[in-house]
Amino acid sequence: MKPPPFHYHDPTTLAEAVGLLGKLENAKLLAGGQSLMPMLNMRFVLPDHVIDLNRVDGLSYIKETDGALEIGAMTRQRDIEFSDLVKANCPLLHQAIMHIGHRQTRNRGTIGGSLCHLDPAAELVSVAAAHDATVVVAGPNGTREIAFKDFPAGYLTPAIELNEIVTAVRIPLWPAGHKAAFVEFSRRHGDFAIVSAAALLQLEGGKIARASLTIGGVAVAPVRASEVEKAITGQAPSSELFRKSCESCRMIEALADIHASTEYRQHLAAVLSRRALEKAAGLADNAPWNRAH
Ligand SMILES: Cc1cc2nc3c(=O)[nH]c(=O)nc-3n(C[C@H](O)[C@H](O)[C@H](O)COP(=O)(O)OP(=O)(O)OC[C@H]3O[C@@H](n4cnc5c(N)ncnc54)[C@H](O)[C@@H]3O)c2cc1C
Repeated sequence: MKPPPFHYHDPTTLAEAVGLLGKLENAKLLAGGQSLMPMLNMRFVLPDHVIDLNRVDGLSYIKETDGALEIGAMTRQRDIEFSDLVKANCPLLHQAIMHIGHRQTRNRGTIGGSLCHLDPAAELVSVAAAHDATVVVAGPNGTREIAFKDFPAGYLTPAIELNEIVTAVRIPLWPAGHKAAFVEFSRRHGDFAIVSAAALLQLEGGKIARASLTIGGVAVAPVRASEVEKAITGQAPSSELFRKSCESCRMIEALADIHASTEYRQHLAAVLSRRALEKAAGLADNAPWNRAH
């Protein structure tokens, strides 16, 4: 299928791109095109103008500043995959990126495009939720920052204005030596997850000093399992503790679609949460489900 006709714009600076977005009616930004192009081809979106961000200077970088990893919106997923800075400081992001699509889609797909497409099962969206990331946005009145918990406004809908462009995401880093695990269930390798779980643990003196658990694919945006986080904090990690605590994930108001029922998603939420916590805590090294990967 071919996309519907549109006018193509090719700005080279952020100011020019923001100017075009403010001026043109019914315009869409193009990043890696890995979600937008299929949506155009299937006529799910019908823009009159497409503004290509690929030549805009200064939007592709990975750097560490003030205890956070800052990643430019146009940074390709494949560059994140091979970044030593990411691997050393943000193991959850490093693990999660390996689950995204295929090498070909990661070559073009960007972090900004994934966050803005905001698929509830997207791995990068879950990582941003797990780390309490901040999204940096540029518009006609300058830049502003949005806490990631306020970023999803609805299904596939980020809380940005029509004249705004996401320029970067800032991911606060956890202390060196923290543990992380990303697990997901999908029908085939490279498919979007049906459900995923992202766990971060900070252990001190054999106890969990801090925990973050995020479940993707169950609702319109990733859900932080705050009940589980509270229940396990201050406890010594064990499979029994994780099994009992993660039972509360069966109560999440889960979506149903052609891939999975509400009940099945709730079941996966409980099982994958427990597995992610076990894997992060080093309790899953001999588990059959872990050996397969
Ligand atoms: C075969 C296949 C398998 C895939 N599997 C997975 C998977 O398993 N997991 C997963 O997470 N994704 C998957 N994807 C999607 C892929 O990760 C996309 O790269 C991603 O969803 C969108 O990023 P993009 O850079 O391609 O953005 P685009 O497709 O160019 O844009 C997506 C949307 O975001 C908007 N946008 C883009 N950049 C900005 C910006 N800076 N500011 C404001 N709005 C912006 C666009 O206007 C558009 O609405 C898959 C894609 C394919 C084709």
